[in-house]
Amino acid sequence: MRARRKTSRQSDQQTREAAAAVALTRLGTWLEERGLKHSRQRDVIVEAFYAMGGHVPVDGLVARVRALDARVSVATVYRTMKLLAECGIAVPRRFDDGQTRYEPASGRAHHDHLICTGCGRIVEFENEKIEELQIRVAHGQGFEVDSHKLELYGRCERCRRGGGAGSKGASP
Ligand SMILES: [Zn+2]
Ligand SMILES: [Zn+2]
Repeated sequence: MRARRKTSRQSDQQTREAAAAVALTRLGTWLEERGLKHSRQRDVIVEAFYAMGGHVPVDGLVARVRALDARVSVATVYRTMKLLAECGIAVPRRFDDGQTRYEPASGRAHHDHLICTGCGRIVEFENEKIEELQIRVAHGQGFEVDSHKLELYGRCERCRRGGGAGSKGASP
């Protein structure tokens, strides 16, 4: 594993905490507009979600949240994440392993994913040419594209070298 300097990890954490604070404010406004209550449990879930970073599997989030507060039910975590998706704070992802994952949506551009079938690693990418090509292919068939998901499955460099196989995550 690549060693990261303490300072960069600290600023990473600060960025996540700031993003969590922004998300909580937005969620609060969204709930208020709908006459719904803000709960401390929701705060814990949102903070844990941002602290985990990346593409968070819901069951992983459940484990983390319940370690912080055992009174939070599994159903509450699932419901809260659906709520976050509804108000545009999180984007649900479902890759081939069948798990539902969420990633933070705030301030992020469209991207696609590379998924390692060995270790479950998920890498984001954007490629202008691919984006254009997809639109052209669709136009050629008389389609207007609203959205798309591109997922490339394969083995990451580490797994191809035999370093990361079977450590966790996606099914082979
Ligand atoms: Zn891998
Ligand atoms: Zn992503």
